[in-house]
Amino acid sequence: KTVGVDAGGTLIKIAFWENEELKFQKFPSTDLPAATEWIRRQFPGAEICVTGGKASLFQALMQIDSEQMIEFEATCSGAQYLLRSQSLPADSFILTNVGTGTSVHYVENNRHLRVGGIGVGGGTLMGLSCIMTGMSDYKEIISLSRQGSRKAVDLKVSDIYEGTTPPIPGDLTASNFGKANHPGQKWSDQDLLASVIGVVGETVTTVSILAAAQHGTSAIVYIGSSFVDNDVLRETVTGYTILRGAVPTVLTNGEYSGAIGALLSL
Ligand code: ADP
Repeated sequence: KTVGVDAGGTLIKIAFWENEELKFQKFPSTDLPAATEWIRRQFPGAEICVTGGKASLFQALMQIDSEQMIEFEATCSGAQYLLRSQSLPADSFILTNVGTGTSVHYVENNRHLRVGGIGVGGGTLMGLSCIMTGMSDYKEIISLSRQGSRKAVDLKVSDIYEGTTPPIPGDLTASNFGKANHPGQKWSDQDLLASVIGVVGETVTTVSILAAAQHGTSAIVYIGSSFVDNDVLRETVTGYTILRGAVPTVLTNGEYSGAIGALLSL
């Protein structure tokens, strides 16, 4: 038996084989003991490889001998595995991991390069949502965001070029939250949540597009738990990536890339 673990800032992702099929499990990172206990009970005597920012903490708590792997290597190798198993092109692409924060890689065959990262990611989505609406449950936030509209919060290019033809598509965002500078005005929770997801989505897309141009590719693969059940983020990112002339893939099970990479290293 082999088990791969990605202990991240928000979630612990676990990948393992069952009847030659990949299976997954996740726990909140605030509950490391529950995750270590689950592994100890489910996989006695298994070979384990751990990656992610909380890998060392996880290993110390688990008290079972285990391997450790560098996070970016695990993520890139796991993402390539998922792409191949879903019959998607996997030779040369930008890999954008929207986790608690966002990191951007260039992957080419068996080589990978960390292009950079930004602090805008799933943690930003959670933090700004909490400040603006008081909500802190991920499922509730993304579910309410579906009913929201960004019209009253975000300033579009067409809002600035009122009545005239703008030099760039009018539908582009000119300023995220650009209409929100009115003390005393209230916006609905759903509109605020849609706009929070909008600014996160457009920011991670923009850095991905620039990285793609820099490395001469047009394929961008998006992974990370921020996309889980999050239609608004998926649509923002895929729509904006296409508009900017690149080809997006929001990888199914992509949030488990790190755990899969760790599993495959054993
Ligand atoms: P990390 O490896 O940094 O933990 P993930 O790829 O797991 O990152 O993504 C974490 C983000 O995913 C959170 O910031 C949040 O936006 C989103 N998310 C998805 N599911 C959940 C959940 N059940 N609880 C909290 N956040 C979640």
